[in-house]
Amino acid sequence: MVYTDTRDKTVRTDFRTAVINGMNAATGGLYIPTAYPEIDKTYLEQTADPSFREIAFAMSKPYTDGEIQDSDLDAIIQDAYPFISHVVPIDPVTYVLELFHGPTCAFKDFGARFMARVMAYFNRNENDTLHILVATSGDTGSAVGSAFHNVEGLDVTILYPEGKISPLQEKQLSTFTGNVQALKIKGTFDDCQKLVKTAFTDTELRKQLRLSSANSINISRLLPQSFYYMYSSIVVKNRCLYDNRIENPAIIVVVPSGNFGNLTSGLIARKMGAPITGFVAATNANHTVPDWIATGKYIPMPSVMTYANAMDVGDPSNYERITAMYTLDEVRSLFASYWLDNNGIMEAIKDCLRKTGYITDPHGAIAWKAWDDMRHGAMENLLNGQKGDYKKPGLTPNIPDWALAVTEKRAVGIVLETADPAKFSTTVRLAAGREPAMPDRLSRVMALPDRAITMENSYTDLKNWLTANLKK
Ligand SMILES: *Cc1c(COP(=O)(O)O)cnc(C)c1O
Repeated sequence: MVYTDTRDKTVRTDFRTAVINGMNAATGGLYIPTAYPEIDKTYLEQTADPSFREIAFAMSKPYTDGEIQDSDLDAIIQDAYPFISHVVPIDPVTYVLELFHGPTCAFKDFGARFMARVMAYFNRNENDTLHILVATSGDTGSAVGSAFHNVEGLDVTILYPEGKISPLQEKQLSTFTGNVQALKIKGTFDDCQKLVKTAFTDTELRKQLRLSSANSINISRLLPQSFYYMYSSIVVKNRCLYDNRIENPAIIVVVPSGNFGNLTSGLIARKMGAPITGFVAATNANHTVPDWIATGKYIPMPSVMTYANAMDVGDPSNYERITAMYTLDEVRSLFASYWLDNNGIMEAIKDCLRKTGYITDPHGAIAWKAWDDMRHGAMENLLNGQKGDYKKPGLTPNIPDWALAVTEKRAVGIVLETADPAKFSTTVRLAAGREPAMPDRLSRVMALPDRAITMENSYTDLKNWLTANLKK
C-alpha cells in the first residue's frame, strides 16, 4: 500500500515510514492510505457468524502487503487479539458493540495492541531504542502502556493532564515499571497534545532520539479499529434476519467521539465494504465537530471537563483525516451529529438502565441516547423542519441521507460502548444508583503504587527530561 498525507497529496510513502514517523514532520500532516480496497465479498455474503481474527487478517493485509509477511501478520493478529468485540442486543433494533473486553477495559486496546506489535516488528533489526511519546485524555495512556509494556527495543512516555482523569485511569497509566513512564502535566489534554506535537517537529531533538507517536494520529492504531466495524455490521446484518426481520436494514453506527480516531476507522471500514449506511458522531460538551457539521465552520475550542472525559477534546486531530476523505456535503449526508452536556450524560445513563436494563459508561451513554432520541422523534422533527438550536444539546440540523430509514423504522443502530462502566464507577453509581461490577483486572491495578513524575506545562522542561532520561 502506498500512503500519502492529509496536507500534501503528492507525498508517497510506505506503511513502515507512516507507522514509525507517526505524522509527517515536513508538512505537519497525517498519513492516510491512497486506497481502501474492498474486502472479499465472501465475508459480506456469508450468513454464519464471521470470525473476528479472519476479518482482521483480511482487512489488514492490503495495508501491510509487501512489508509484513502473511505468517507474521497472522501472528501479530493472534497475539494482539486474545479477546474480541461483542455484539449485545438490548432491544430488537439496538445493538451495543462492547469494545471493552481487552486488558485495560476500553476500546483503545484494539488499536494499541496491533500498533505495538507492528512497531516491534519494524524495529526488530534496529540498534537504537524507539521512543513512543503519547498524550492522553484518559484511556490512551493505559492502553498504550499496557500494549507496549516489556516489548523489547521500545519505551513509552505518557503525558496526561493533572487532575483531569479519573483515579482509576490514573492508576492504570502511572503504575507501570520498566519501559513505561508517566508524566503528570500541569495543564489540559490539549496542552499535553501540543507538547507531544512540538517534540515531533523539533528536528534537533529528533536527531538525538528516535521518536514515534502512539496517539490516534498513528495510522497503525486507526486501521485495526476498522476490524470491529466490519465484524459487527456483518453480525448485525445477519441477526436482523431473526431479531427484527427488517429486510435490508439501514445500519447506523453511533460513535462516542473525542479525537475522532474511532469514527475515522469506521469510515475506513465502510469504504472497504462494511454494510454500514451511516454514522452518528456523538460528543460531550466538546462539540467542535457537531458545530462544524451544523455551521460549516470548524472552530477549535479549548477543551472543557465532562463526565465522559476520554472525549474532552476541543480540537480533534482526526478532523483532518475526515476532511481528506470526504467533503462537508458528503459528511452531512453520511453523518448525523449529536451532543450532550453533563446533565444529559447522567440522564442518559439512568434512562438507558430504566428502558433496557443495560448499564452504560458515560461515553457509551451519549451514543445510546443519540440513537434513542433519533428514533423517538428527534429525526422526525428534523424532517418536519423543526430544527433545534445547534448550540443546545441534541441533534444538529443537517439531514443525513438515511433520515427516512430511521423514521420509517427500517434502520437498526449499533451503539459503541467504548469502556467498561466500572472504569467510571463514581459517575455511574451517581446516575444509576447502582455500582457496576468491577472486573479483576481493574481491582488489581488499584492496589499498585503510583510512579508518575509531575511536570510544568513547558516544552523546555519536557525536552530536558527526555534528553536526560531516555537512552539512545
Ligand atoms: C478515547 C475514548 C473515546 C474517544 O475516542 P476517539 O477515537 O478519540 O474519538 C471514547 N470513549 C472512551 C472510553 C475512550 O477511551
